[in-house]
Amino acid sequence: MSDKLEFDVAIVGGGIAGLVCGVRLAELGVRVGVLEKGEHDRYPCNARFSGGAFHVCFHEVNEDESVLADVIRERAGNAATPAYVEAMARDTRTAVKWLKAQGIKFIKAGHEAWRSNTLAPPLVAKPGLHWEGRGGDVMMRTLTAKLKEARGTLLLGTKALKLRMDGAKCVGVDVEQGGQRAVVTARHVVICDGGFQANFDMLRKHITSAPEKIKQRGAATSHGDGLRMATEVGAQTVGLDRFYGHLLSKDAMHNDTLWPFPMADHICQAAVVIDGNGRRFVDEGRGGVFIANHVAKLADPLSTSVIYDEAIWDGPARDFILPANPNLITAGATIYKSPDLAGLAQQLGVPAAALQDTVAEYNKAVDAGTTDKLVPFRSSSAHKAHPIRKAPFYAMPLCAGITYSMGGLAIDASARVLNAQNSPIAGLYAAGCTTGGLEGGDLVGYVGGLAKSAVMALRAAEHIAESK
Ligand SMILES: Cc1cc2nc3c(=O)[nH]c(=O)nc-3n(C[C@H](O)[C@H](O)[C@H](O)COP(=O)(O)OP(=O)(O)OC[C@H]3O[C@@H](n4cnc5c(N)ncnc54)[C@H](O)[C@@H]3O)c2cc1C
Repeated sequence: MSDKLEFDVAIVGGGIAGLVCGVRLAELGVRVGVLEKGEHDRYPCNARFSGGAFHVCFHEVNEDESVLADVIRERAGNAATPAYVEAMARDTRTAVKWLKAQGIKFIKAGHEAWRSNTLAPPLVAKPGLHWEGRGGDVMMRTLTAKLKEARGTLLLGTKALKLRMDGAKCVGVDVEQGGQRAVVTARHVVICDGGFQANFDMLRKHITSAPEKIKQRGAATSHGDGLRMATEVGAQTVGLDRFYGHLLSKDAMHNDTLWPFPMADHICQAAVVIDGNGRRFVDEGRGGVFIANHVAKLADPLSTSVIYDEAIWDGPARDFILPANPNLITAGATIYKSPDLAGLAQQLGVPAAALQDTVAEYNKAVDAGTTDKLVPFRSSSAHKAHPIRKAPFYAMPLCAGITYSMGGLAIDASARVLNAQNSPIAGLYAAGCTTGGLEGGDLVGYVGGLAKSAVMALRAAEHIAESK
């Protein structure tokens, strides 16, 4: 280990954002070092664990730019800054093309258009986490080889601690390697450490009062170091209160076969989600990512359950890549079953009268087409409300799984980190899930983590190379 390392550009984090940025800079002849805290060549990160679908709000990346821009604005509302929307709508296809040119293979992994650009080979349709040799892992290994081939450096076991400043300009980063502190000097630093989802203090401050009751649905390698380091030097943050994640069986808290798949989203968004008092508390029609965020906001995020019937179990629960029916059962999820709601309430330990009232009121609104009058409101434009009437009845205790934090560092269209006055901090860039300004908002709009990371990583690289 050296105690002084020098690059033109130092990149913090070697996930998809860090490696894409590193490879592009190295291709452009820039001397780049990717600092990755993982110690082994198959170090865990969300990119390696991912399902590999490049999409924009579940739209195919080659769709008309204006359609992509509209759908981002519709989902994320004010959370999406114009610069980020424009970048995603215009450049996601370019990023996929660039990855293909690096030798990364994509396939159409299903009949849906949004799965047309999925990293090959796709995930195996089996409950639990199976990343080895799948598309995310192959992409990471291909990018690592490309970085080396282009004379870039990947420093494993190198954890970024603190940015180095010369006045108002970022000029490097202090790191820890093998228990020793070292200095990395660079003319530019790009933060790509993936968010703050695994930092309980930050989760407690921004997302949930009980982070220990939220399932880490990912590599859990991102502790918000980039966010902390950049805010220490004046960076602005945006939208820290939302996350991308899904609903899982509560048993996922201790049973590893139940995460990251199968998810419970397709049941929840068709049926009724209740709290520990047997009452609805969220608009289920907004979908799994939205519901998961609201579960996390409860005082006890492990107090919720989904209530459904045989028709939902045989219908929407059979939907999606690894359907809830039958995979939740084969993976060992606790599911209560009863010929009537009173029996279900007893097994769940919620007041029977409250559960019966909740379901009766919901069914009445579904029949009358007035779910928008329910309290809380139940929308049905994105996900249809199904009646809960056909015995047997089911209840599954839930937990919210967090994959990555949606908010983060404010950046401009060239991925430069902005200060409180909206001016770029000299020498400092950010890309990937450490950035905010695209996803979240009132509707918890999810745009796409892989696309977001690759697009801004390439923009950062191009801008740095041009300004050399
Ligand atoms: C199960 C699963 C399925 C998914 N499926 C999809 C999908 O189909 N489509 C999609 O678009 N997205 C998907 N995602 C999300 C996607 O994987 C992420 O959005 C994306 O990987 C984020 O990239 P990143 O580079 O920002 O972060 P990451 O890929 O997580 O990389 C961050 C890296 O930074 C390193 N790091 C952290 N702190 C430091 C530090 N202080 N110093 C040095 N290094 C540090 C970490 O070790 C890690 O290697 C999925 C994620 C999971 C977990």
